[in-house]
Amino acid sequence: MEDFYKILSCEPDDSIEDLKRSYQKLILECHPDKLSSKQLSQEEHTVALQRFLQVDRAWKTLSDENLRKDYNARLKEWQFAQKFPIHDSVCLEDFDYNEELEAHTYPCRCGDVFILDQTSVDLGVDTVCCESCSLAIHVDLENT
Ligand SMILES: [Zn+2]
Repeated sequence: MEDFYKILSCEPDDSIEDLKRSYQKLILECHPDKLSSKQLSQEEHTVALQRFLQVDRAWKTLSDENLRKDYNARLKEWQFAQKFPIHDSVCLEDFDYNEELEAHTYPCRCGDVFILDQTSVDLGVDTVCCESCSLAIHVDLENT
């Protein structure tokens, strides 16, 4: 997923005026009309053109209040997924049942365990984060 804020050198809570100022500055730097006057190699030209399209795309989304709201929600989700990368998919039957915790557990690479209680299973929660590290696993509930 493209981080439109990063592309525009802005922050998610910047005002529309801030975004516009940044967009106008960036779009001038890589505008196709400007590029033709520069002595660019084919490759540099392609890179600059891609940058132009990227900046244009970012602005089109972020300048629209509704699109921006929708995008912000997706970005948050995406950033969460980056923070907790799902590194495995495990069947519930591969978990051990821990009587003491009254929960299903599965060993994590860091030495700790993923803990999935029955309530979560009943609710259909299918992503478990390790409490000790940033790993997460996807629980395949379909095959159980
Ligand atoms: Zn862990």
